[in-house]
Amino acid sequence: MKRTSLIGQLGQAQQQQTVTLQGWVSRRRDLGGLIFLELRDRSGTVQVQVEPDSPAFAEADRLRAEYVAEIEGTFQPRPESQRKGGLADFEVIASRVKVLNAAKTPPFELDKGESVAEDIRLKYRYLDLRRPEMQRALMLRSKAVTAVTEFLDAEGFIQVETPMLTKSTPEGARDFLVPSRLNPGEFYALPQSPQLFKQLLMIAGFDRYYQLARCFRDEDLRADRQPDFTQLDMEMSFVEQDDVLEVQERLLAHVFRRVLDVELPLPFPRMSYFDAMDRYGSDKPDLRFDSAFTDVTGLFRGGEFAAFASAPSVKVLVAPELTRKQIDELERVAKQNGAGGLAWLRRDGEGFTGGISKFVGGIAPQLIEQTGVAQGGTLLFAAGEWKKAVTALGAVRLALRDLFDLAAGGPQFHVSWVVDFPQLEFDEDSQSWTYMHHPFTAPHPGDVALFGTERQGEMRAQAYDLVMNGFEIGGGSVRIHDPEVQAKMFQAIGFSEEAAREKFGFFLDALEYGTPPHGGIAWGFDRLLMLMSGAGSIREVIAFPKNNRGADLMAQAPSPVEDAQLAEVGVQVRGE
Ligand code: ASP
Repeated sequence: MKRTSLIGQLGQAQQQQTVTLQGWVSRRRDLGGLIFLELRDRSGTVQVQVEPDSPAFAEADRLRAEYVAEIEGTFQPRPESQRKGGLADFEVIASRVKVLNAAKTPPFELDKGESVAEDIRLKYRYLDLRRPEMQRALMLRSKAVTAVTEFLDAEGFIQVETPMLTKSTPEGARDFLVPSRLNPGEFYALPQSPQLFKQLLMIAGFDRYYQLARCFRDEDLRADRQPDFTQLDMEMSFVEQDDVLEVQERLLAHVFRRVLDVELPLPFPRMSYFDAMDRYGSDKPDLRFDSAFTDVTGLFRGGEFAAFASAPSVKVLVAPELTRKQIDELERVAKQNGAGGLAWLRRDGEGFTGGISKFVGGIAPQLIEQTGVAQGGTLLFAAGEWKKAVTALGAVRLALRDLFDLAAGGPQFHVSWVVDFPQLEFDEDSQSWTYMHHPFTAPHPGDVALFGTERQGEMRAQAYDLVMNGFEIGGGSVRIHDPEVQAKMFQAIGFSEEAAREKFGFFLDALEYGTPPHGGIAWGFDRLLMLMSGAGSIREVIAFPKNNRGADLMAQAPSPVEDAQLAEVGVQVRGE
């Protein structure tokens, strides 16, 4: 290569040396007859100066933004007054410039990247990706993959790839379907996760498996969701829940150490699903700050305030002093999340004003004592059926976090486990029981007897979520390895034997051929990287993402296809 080094590798040691660099012109300025260029490659940017009498001048004069150039010159310190630290302490005095390629004028200024409409950035993603922020994000991603691989390889995990064209897998989202040309009228489903395959690999005796797996879920999109995304998928045999969690903790700590030079304190705290919901109103509580709810159901029971007197659950959250406008906004959040309203009180001396104050005179001292609310501080209440009340107040808690930047006082990364999820969940829409994680999750051994009884809603699963800063970054479970328990599980969720056979017959067969006890987990790898890089969306850590309507604006996918192509796969598009 003609290039003597990457730009970012230059420093003190190269002073006064002749260097040859190749990259893109990120800026050109003409000043007093001189041409100043900024030359950028993936490792950094350096200033280049071309003097009017230099043999390089004529060629340098052709350079415009995003042209590709080769520059040879002397690497030297800039005049004292112009030094700005790091590479900006130096410049290259060009002796030779070669235009390697021209570029059209870019549709947006790359150094304004953050403020450019996202649709434009996505349409010209290859230009957007030239921005140092994006390059850093993808390099961080690559480093994280390396860290994961080195750790899991050393721990005896084996990488196996599982199919993309397969049958529906059980994660409960809508499938993407692919028509089969060779089997007209039949479809593959793209995997929502490799769940069944990784369990089959345990049955096959591989003992420990991992894969950076592409998963596909046809769901409504959000900042932390894409239709195709990456999971770090893992499974282990002959383990119990604690064994899985222990390896995961060391793995995550290793990744943070290697990639960010951050030490995560181990072990991660564990909280049951019930406690997480009861105290923070979320199964992925943001624990960078506390603000737990206080239960005041008993205090209001049978009291003056009719709306709370007979409510099954009354929870209260302490907030700083709030304006009427802020309270209205928080009430909107509560209502959006299923509450009928948001009752409130402002502490004034040893009593309260505003909101529902005229109903709480008698219990004011207890309310102050139990919540610890400060002078001028606000109490925010949600009441009703337990899950509804805590969920609504949980959303208010997060709105308060955003309003007052409550997380800023805590650790940069807070990691915890949420454990003991319910095995079954009652689905109000279909009025039936369904699985909470997926149908292969094992219940706590002591709870198996509750299958089919009135108390089956109380069954705890051996399921766990890894939570960071209010995001679920991973989830998994110990699996059912006993065909009889599996049959009970299907029965509980109203899956007839035929239905189960039709969907997962191959898997149920396999379970009967000597299945080891096993369990595993999958990390939402994009989401983790989003948090590690401080980005606001997973699109910032994916090279070629879809927008929030599921479209790839650059490649223009999805797109209509020719009738002949449809005919080949036996599909007809119905007009609207
Ligand atoms: N397949 C599960 C998921 O995608 C993860 C697991 O249970 O290992 O959520």
